[in-house]
Amino acid sequence: MSSKSTAVSTDETETEAEPESALATARRQLDRAAAELTLDPNIVERLKHPAQVHEVTVPIRRDDGTLEAYTGFRAQHDSVRGPYKGGLRFHPGVTREECIGLSMWMTWKCAVMDLPFGGAKGGVVVDPKDLSEEEVERLTRRFAQELRDVVGPHTDIPAPDMGTDAQTMSWFMDAYSMQEGETTPGVVTGKPPVIGGSEGRDGAPGRSVAIITREAVKYYDWDLSETTVAVQGFGSVGANAARLLDDWGANVVAVSDVNGAIYDPDGLDTRDVPTHKEEPEAVMTYDAPQKLSNEEILELDVDVLIPAAIGNVITADNADDIQADVIVEGANGPTTFAADEMLTERGIPVIPDILANAGGVTVSYFEWLQDINRRAWSLERVHEELESEMNDAWNAVRDEVEARDVSWRDAAYIVALERIAEAHERRGVWP
Ligand code: GLU
Repeated sequence: MSSKSTAVSTDETETEAEPESALATARRQLDRAAAELTLDPNIVERLKHPAQVHEVTVPIRRDDGTLEAYTGFRAQHDSVRGPYKGGLRFHPGVTREECIGLSMWMTWKCAVMDLPFGGAKGGVVVDPKDLSEEEVERLTRRFAQELRDVVGPHTDIPAPDMGTDAQTMSWFMDAYSMQEGETTPGVVTGKPPVIGGSEGRDGAPGRSVAIITREAVKYYDWDLSETTVAVQGFGSVGANAARLLDDWGANVVAVSDVNGAIYDPDGLDTRDVPTHKEEPEAVMTYDAPQKLSNEEILELDVDVLIPAAIGNVITADNADDIQADVIVEGANGPTTFAADEMLTERGIPVIPDILANAGGVTVSYFEWLQDINRRAWSLERVHEELESEMNDAWNAVRDEVEARDVSWRDAAYIVALERIAEAHERRGVWP
C-alpha cells in the first residue's frame, strides 16, 4: 500500500468539451465561500489538500481463472471533527482526483450536519456490470483487506456510493471482521439491518432530498401541491425523493434513467415506475405520453429540478437552458463551478448536495451509534431524528443566506467552514 500526499494544480478551468474535475470544483467552491469569512488563510490552504490518499492494487481471480488487477483509492481529507467518513464507488470513472474532491465534499457535508465525522471517499476503477456477483464479492473482500490498516470504526468508516450497496458493505464488514478476529459492524455503514445496519438507511439520501425540497418550496412561498418536479436518475436517491414528494402531494412530471426520461405534464404515478433496484434501467417501459432524452429532462420548465444521477450534468453548455425555478442537488457535484455561477447570475437558486443529500451520511451516523451501543432504533425513530437533523441544518444554512445575501451553496460552506476552522483553531498544530 502506498500513502502519498497529493499536489494537484488548481488552475484547471472548465472548457465546453470537458467540465472541470470534482477536485478543481471543490477547491474553487472553498475559495469562494472562504472569501466571505475571516478565516486563517493557513487553515483554508490546508483544507485544499487531503490528509492522505491511499492507492491500492486489487487483484482478483475472474470466473474464467485469469487474474485481473484493479486500482482502488481511499482519499481521507480531514478528521479534525472525528473519524473519516464517506462512500466507496465501484465505477469506471473513479480517479484519484475525483476521490479527493468527493472526500472534501464529505468533510463539508458532515460539518453542515454537525456530525462528529471528517470526510473521505474511495473507490475501485471498475464497471461492476462487467463482473459476476462472485467476482464483485472477491473484489470487495480484497479491497477491504488492502484498506484494512487505514479503516476502522474509529478511524475511517466507508459506506455505499455509486455502484455499491448494502451487500457490498456486508462483504466489506465480513472481510474486515474475519481478519480482526471480532465482528466489527461499526467499520462500515449502509449494511443490512440484520448485521447492524440501520432501518431507513437505504432511503435516507432520497428522503433528505425530499425534506429539503419541501423546505425550499415553503421558503419560496409556493404550495407543494402545485409544485412541478423533474428528477434525473431513478436510483436510490432519485426514486426515493420522487416517491416521497409524490406522496406529499407534489406533481412529479418527469423522471429518467440512463436510457432517457418519461414526461407527463399531469404527473407520473411514481410508484408504478420501476426503480433501478426493482428493475434496472426500466424507466422507459412506463407508458408515459412523452419520452425525452437525459439532456431534455434538465431543460424542462418545472418548478424544481432534482439532478440525482451523476456528477457534472449541469455545465457551462446547458446552464443557460435550464428553466427550473430551483435546483435541488441529489447527486454529488451535479453542477460545475461555471454553471453554478451562471445559474446564480440568472437568479436560479441551487440547493447544494452537501445539504440536500446529507440524509445518507446522517443515517450512517445513526447506524454507527446503534453499532457502538449494540441497540437498534425503530424506523420511526430514524425518520424523526433525520427530520430534526435536516431541519436544524436547513435553518442554519437559511440563516446564512439571509444574513449575508449569499447563494445556498456558499451559505452551506460557510456553516461547515466555521465549524471546521474553529475545531482546527482549538486543536492547534502539533508538534
Ligand atoms: N455516499 C454517501 C454520500 O455521498 C454516504 C456516505 C456515508 O454514509 O458515509 O453522502
